[in-house]
Amino acid sequence: MGIKHVATMTFLVGGVSLLAPHAASACSSRTVCVTWKSQIQDDDVGESVVLGEAIPARGAKVTLIPPTPEHPVNTFLDQDGCVTFETQYAYGHKLIVHNEAWVGTLDPLDLTRVRVIREPERFEYQEDFIWVVDLHGLAPDDTVNVSIEPEEGDPIGPLMAVSTAVMHQFYELDIMPSAPYFWGTKPTLEIIYTDYKANANGACRTVSLGPDSRREKFVMAHEMGHWLKCEWGGDFGSYDDYVTYDYPSDDPDCQFDVVMGEIPSGAGSHGIRSAEWSLPAMNEGFAHLVASITFNDFADPSNLESEDGIFQYYKDINLESVPAYADFVNVGKSRVSLLGTGSLGGQNRWVDQKCNADWTEEHVSSELDWMRFFWYLLTHEGDAPTLREVLAWMDFARDDPITYVFDLVNVYSALLLAAEDSDMEPFVERIEDANCEHGVYNGTSCQ
Ligand SMILES: [Zn+2]
Repeated sequence: MGIKHVATMTFLVGGVSLLAPHAASACSSRTVCVTWKSQIQDDDVGESVVLGEAIPARGAKVTLIPPTPEHPVNTFLDQDGCVTFETQYAYGHKLIVHNEAWVGTLDPLDLTRVRVIREPERFEYQEDFIWVVDLHGLAPDDTVNVSIEPEEGDPIGPLMAVSTAVMHQFYELDIMPSAPYFWGTKPTLEIIYTDYKANANGACRTVSLGPDSRREKFVMAHEMGHWLKCEWGGDFGSYDDYVTYDYPSDDPDCQFDVVMGEIPSGAGSHGIRSAEWSLPAMNEGFAHLVASITFNDFADPSNLESEDGIFQYYKDINLESVPAYADFVNVGKSRVSLLGTGSLGGQNRWVDQKCNADWTEEHVSSELDWMRFFWYLLTHEGDAPTLREVLAWMDFARDDPITYVFDLVNVYSALLLAAEDSDMEPFVERIEDANCEHGVYNGTSCQ
């Protein structure tokens, strides 16, 4: 099946004929299914989606090398991580798996390319990685399962595992970007593992992450959340001061800092509960939301014991400089309730309740409040928009910066206006309710 669907792709390097001409009558089909090892440490968080240690190598680029006289074939695993091929031999095949995969949909013309590369030093890239799997005992019409074992310290295979698993979840959630941000290209995601730089970043086309982040699925999904919104066209870009981090908070509960390791990191500029300009706070809160719905049952919260979900925060918070996070880290293990009804992660309307000096400024909000704002919008009882509709709403607002001005007032006001003018119009009241519940903007009165 794998062979059949990739036959329509133009980037096949080798031939697609799998039959050795003089041995065709003795051939029979065999199936090989491949898994990656994930090596993640936060897989126990999230109420419904656990990735597991072995993750199907969905859509991975492979080279099958059969014994001679059969010919090598370049192809791709299918969306279950399997490939079926014809051969006359049960032994002696090698499968070379590459650091590239095409994942997301069942339509081969609509797949998204994911590749993990390495940047040991700044601007010094290693782009090609392979894993060689020896195949033995391929009985006719049989399926053989093999696992790619990364060598000690190999971050590339495990990152292929988690990034393609998250992308597959995006497909399951029906939020794959079909219209790429850059005209004339297809959506593509390049993950860059930076040996020399800690922390992580996400944007159109690229996610980068360092040694401190590679074992955390919530970081990967968060950065891929930035990628997702950007590829949908909803990235609000740079508006000078309004999108910079490092808002100078006067309230201890809304400040932030991280423990610095040996590798340089920019992680300290903003955090889950820090007061921020509303534009970066919304961008970060939305990326947290994407990570949350990737690993929690968002489509049907009634499956949960409560409608709550859990977000695992991932930065190494410095309790000496920001002691207000002691409970967050020591008791809550940096986990956050998405409804905010209990104490896990901090109470609702965080900036309003805890940071009076910051809350007097209309342009200030927090990642925590925005994450819960979006979760409420998507999961609270009653008619809810889909995440797909929310992504389209961001794109709609971004397309007309004259009408929807993202300035010092608050990104909320512009988004609300864009909702009134777009397909989100039926949800305007719900958006206002979500703001009253979670306090992303202080300029409206709530009962
Ligand atoms: Zn982010």
